[in-house]
Amino acid sequence: MKQKAVLVVFTGGTISMVCDPVSGALRPADMDKFKMYIPELFHGDIRIELLSFDPLIDSSDVNPPLWSRLAHIIYDNYSRYDGFVVTHGTDTMAYTASALSFMLENLNKPVVFTGSQLPIGTLRSDAKENLITAIEIAAEQDEDGQAVVPEVCIFFDTKLFRGNRCTKKNAEWFSAFKSYNYDPLAIAGVHIKYYPHLIHYCDPTAPLRLRTKIDQRVAILKLFPGIAEQTVRAILNIPDLKAVVLETYGSGNAPSDQWLFEALSDATRRGIIIVNKTQCVMGSVEMGRYETSLNLLNAGVLSGYDITTEALLTKMMYLLGENEGDTPLVRRLLQTSLCGEMTVE
Ligand code: ASP
Repeated sequence: MKQKAVLVVFTGGTISMVCDPVSGALRPADMDKFKMYIPELFHGDIRIELLSFDPLIDSSDVNPPLWSRLAHIIYDNYSRYDGFVVTHGTDTMAYTASALSFMLENLNKPVVFTGSQLPIGTLRSDAKENLITAIEIAAEQDEDGQAVVPEVCIFFDTKLFRGNRCTKKNAEWFSAFKSYNYDPLAIAGVHIKYYPHLIHYCDPTAPLRLRTKIDQRVAILKLFPGIAEQTVRAILNIPDLKAVVLETYGSGNAPSDQWLFEALSDATRRGIIIVNKTQCVMGSVEMGRYETSLNLLNAGVLSGYDITTEALLTKMMYLLGENEGDTPLVRRLLQTSLCGEMTVE
């Protein structure tokens, strides 16, 4: 049987840091030292190659140009490897994984993001477990040689999630991520158990397409009891604003003030796309279920169904970038699940 090959791309974050013996501070490890911590990785039956961002960065500094750089790395190396692992800081991993799920169209190989809560060199670190299992998943194929999970996903603390369904939920526990509205694609115990009925498959004959144009003219408007008209208008009047994530209550409800209805209607008339995303982590927006969301529907606001804020924001940036000026198409695609990021009833 042909030896599987996995490319591991290090971007930074806690996983690739070591404790400086003199200062005690965490700093990025150099790659040769990194190999020392997991020597067994390089003597197994998977051929592993490493590629490292230079410098390695905290994920708070990851931005759309870096999403695009990562997508290019995967695209350029696509035919040479069976799968890809991206190590990344946990803080913004869900944004990067979501962005890549849109940028890599027709993906037929695994791109598994992972990271850790403790640096690789510390005794109780979760880095080794996470990295080794992520690599195994990235190399996993069925009897026909097809990737078992040909998706952008996040592996963390025994669970494999769809990347664009994830949220970082805990800064303390090893189980840092959760996919609230979609079950895990696999669970790693003694064996790795995959759930094929939950996995998203593209047409295996369709070639990978790289779609990295991004438009950052988006904003998040989070409602709260007592929010002032001038706060709402200040956001909706940002010069050249193209789209807004409107974070609402419950099943997608907002205060019934006339000024709010008028501010939102005025913005949608000016061509600004507004999508309703509930502040609840579980469940879906149901526009029109209550009078307080019927108003939003009448103001031209779209439903975000059960999408995460991370996926909605990156999807907006991607759709606006790739379909510049075609607002009706962007609106239509925002209501369509492109790669399993939401459940449209
Ligand atoms: N601040 C770090 C980062 O996101 C935290 C981590 O890696 O878990 O890069």
